[in-house]
Amino acid sequence: MLSVEEALEQILSRVRRLPTERVVLLAALGRVLAEPVRSTRVIPPWPNSSMDGYAVRARDTRPGATLAVIGRVVAGTLAERAVGAGEAMRIFTGAPLPDGADAVVPQEDVDAAGTQVTLRAAAETGAYVRPAGEDVRHGDLVLEPGTLLGAAEIGLLATLGRNQVEVSRRPRVAVLSTGSELADLGTEPGPAQIPNANTYSLMAQAMEAGAIAINLGVAPDRVDAIGERIRRGREADVLVSSAGVSVGDLDLVREALVQAGAELHLWKVNMRPGKPITFGSLANRPVFGLPGNPVSAMVTFELFVRPALLAMQGRRATSRPRLRAVAAGEIVNRGSRRGYLRVSLHARDARWLARLTGDQGSGILRSMVIADGLAVVEPDTKIGAGEDVEVIVLRDLSL
Ligand code: AMP
Ligand code: MG
Repeated sequence: MLSVEEALEQILSRVRRLPTERVVLLAALGRVLAEPVRSTRVIPPWPNSSMDGYAVRARDTRPGATLAVIGRVVAGTLAERAVGAGEAMRIFTGAPLPDGADAVVPQEDVDAAGTQVTLRAAAETGAYVRPAGEDVRHGDLVLEPGTLLGAAEIGLLATLGRNQVEVSRRPRVAVLSTGSELADLGTEPGPAQIPNANTYSLMAQAMEAGAIAINLGVAPDRVDAIGERIRRGREADVLVSSAGVSVGDLDLVREALVQAGAELHLWKVNMRPGKPITFGSLANRPVFGLPGNPVSAMVTFELFVRPALLAMQGRRATSRPRLRAVAAGEIVNRGSRRGYLRVSLHARDARWLARLTGDQGSGILRSMVIADGLAVVEPDTKIGAGEDVEVIVLRDLSL
């Protein structure tokens, strides 16, 4: 049986980069940059004051020195003259430093009287001066392709005058749920039916990974019905189905995929939850057949589909961060498969404490609601309370 790493390697080796597109700056939030961004500007463009105070020549300053105030310069204007020996100019935060001056004395460090100021201390050259180019120099490579664009990157691009930016196209992900027992959202489940959860959790996971999700609805457990939905999804870049990939008589997704012309590359992966997972190619596009249990579907999406979607968008990092936490109680993984156990994370004494979310049944979707991460536990392993455990972090951690 394949390890998770081997399966992921196979998947990533087969996905291809999507084309890029140009979007307006704010539409690039959450997208992946597809061009190197070099600075065509110097930021700040000139040395300026970081305080309200007096622009001076550092060599004129010492405790008790009195300087003549020769004018003022505010943000958005240039000084009308230079600062000479024995002189100071009133200056405000963000205003360009006048010629001749090389330091700023904050207003709280002087005694001002009329057109004179008396200093209480000497100032060093460069004090309270933000030098030209301290943020960005001309020609700097400020953002590399593959960068996820967040608020800081958007601000930096605005600073460089970029109102459009080249990003990877969003992958279109078609999501299909299979199972004759499923009642879709909007219909009340009949006596032998259960509500369809996977369509929505998987579409949401796809969207969180930067994709556009397409709902292919629910197909009953019949090869022709599944095949018909698969064909409907052929405009998408990726097809993700759930359920019907095990070895039961009604596990028909693999057969339907093959009949639709897919080539299947892998099936079983050594992990729990979610051993049966199918990955293949259909008309050169990746197809994933995920298991049906709601937690197994989400965990296998997380471990295999999400990295593929990020790779298609050209993201530099396709895996989630991992951290070493301390087990709050015993964490046991019986059996021969590697466990991905749901845990919540709690900040304690500068360390993270990992606590199992309770019953690890693969149908318990509420445990995913509580989970901050997945503890990775090797087969037949018992991690005692207080011992280290490796956790894949699934979401923002709040202290
Ligand atoms: P299967 O892989 O078809 O054997 O399904 C495994 C389990 O997951 C069964 O209990 C199914 O009823 C359940 N299941 C399958 N698809 C969904 C779905 N879309 N939403 C919620 N549960 C599902
Ligand atoms: Mg089924």
